[in-house]
Amino acid sequence: MNGIQTSARETCMMCDAPLSGRKDKRFCDDVCRVRHHRTGVQRVLHDVDRVLHRNRSLLRRIRADAAWCSGDPAGCFMWLRRAGYDFNFHTHVAGLHDGRLAVMCYEEGFVVEENGVQVLDRPMIQQPWMEQSVAEPAAVWCDLKRLLKGSASRR
Ligand SMILES: [Zn+2]
Repeated sequence: MNGIQTSARETCMMCDAPLSGRKDKRFCDDVCRVRHHRTGVQRVLHDVDRVLHRNRSLLRRIRADAAWCSGDPAGCFMWLRRAGYDFNFHTHVAGLHDGRLAVMCYEEGFVVEENGVQVLDRPMIQQPWMEQSVAEPAAVWCDLKRLLKGSASRR
């Protein structure tokens, strides 16, 4: 019990239909419950989560095809774009042990190269070097912007 809702509601928070059953009910059915949670801030959270999880699953899919993905940054980049990867959404920037910066989506990520992206060849679970914060991540966004601009003009 969190104490936020002390008195029982009589009508659905979403559609005002009368409520029956459990005292702590706030919605008449699952449709209203889901609708309520997807309005306003909840909606933003849901939409951003959805994009991030989609990006993550695309990175996982391309990484499973390691044979070509490690040797073809341009091909990787185009594949991600065509598959609907949204390059505006990431979780963080991580410094790799070799000094390069990886654009991360949870434990998956990629390094921006001259003509495409190099997808990390394994998921990045907590490593000692990840505890150091990246002091100067700006460069990686410039690289990414250049890559996205270049691919747009090639169309
Ligand atoms: Zn309702």
